[in-house]
Amino acid sequence: MPELPETETIARDLHAMLSGARITGAAVQKGDVLRSVTPDEFMSRLPGTIIVRAWRRAKLIIVELDSGDSLVVQPRFTGALLVERTPDDISARDRNYIALSMRLHDGRVLHYRDIRRLGTVALLSADALASALAPLGPEPLDLALTAERFSGSLRTSRQAIKKVLMDQRVVAGIGNIYANEACWMAGIDPSRAADSITAGEAATLLDSVRGVLQASIALRGTSFRDYVDARGGRGGFVPFLQAYGRGGAPCGRCATPLVDSSAIDGRTTVFCWRCQR
Ligand SMILES: [Zn+2]
Repeated sequence: MPELPETETIARDLHAMLSGARITGAAVQKGDVLRSVTPDEFMSRLPGTIIVRAWRRAKLIIVELDSGDSLVVQPRFTGALLVERTPDDISARDRNYIALSMRLHDGRVLHYRDIRRLGTVALLSADALASALAPLGPEPLDLALTAERFSGSLRTSRQAIKKVLMDQRVVAGIGNIYANEACWMAGIDPSRAADSITAGEAATLLDSVRGVLQASIALRGTSFRDYVDARGGRGGFVPFLQAYGRGGAPCGRCATPLVDSSAIDGRTTVFCWRCQR
C-alpha cells in the first residue's frame, strides 16, 4: 500500500509530466472507484480544465485543476495513475484494470487503474478539499512538527506506539512499512504504550521517521506487489528495509533473528526483541 514516499514520488512525477496540460475528454470504465461524483459528473466537469499542479498530502495525491476542482486519489492497495504517451506504455494486464481515463490536449491519456478497486478517486471543490484534509495531522517532513509537539501528541495515547505512528490524525502519511522501519531505527519496541515514550525517545523517533522517509523518497519508494509510479516503474527501497518483510532474518544492529508478530492491531510487525526497547 503506497505510503508517504510512494505517493510523494507519484505526485512529483505527475506534476512534472502534467502541469499545464488541458483535459479534453474523460471516460469512466469502472465507476465504483468514484467518490463524491457520479460518472456523468466526472465526464462533464473535467473536459476543458487545465491541470495546475499535482501534490501530496498524507497518502493522497491531489491533482488541482484551474476550475477550482481537485482530483483526490487514494491509491490504497493496487491503485495507480499511469500516463500513456503511446499504446505501448500500458501493458495488456494494466489495460484490463483501467477504471478512469482522461484524454489530454497533446494526445496523452492519464489513466487511473486499480486491480482490486479498493482505491478511490474523488472530484472535490476547493471547500470540499479543505474539509477532507482538515482531520489530517501534521506532515512528518514539515519542520513545523517539532520534537516537543510530536512528543506531546504521543503522550495523549496509551495505544502501541507503532499503531499511533500510523494514526493519520497524529502524523500523516505513515503506514505499516515505515512505522516498522522507524521503530527499528529508533530502537523502540513497537508495542510500547505511546504515553511511555520519553521526550528524548520521541525526538529520536521523529528523526528516525524523517530519515527513513527521506531515504525512501530518494529511491522512489518501496515496491511490494502492485505499487508502480506514474511511469510504471518500481521503487528501489526494498533492499534497504531493516524490519518490514525481514521476520526471521538477523537484526542489522545485533544479528538477533527478528520477530514477526501480528499482535498489534492484526498488522505485521517485525522487530528485534533484543535491541528495541
Ligand atoms: Zn537487534
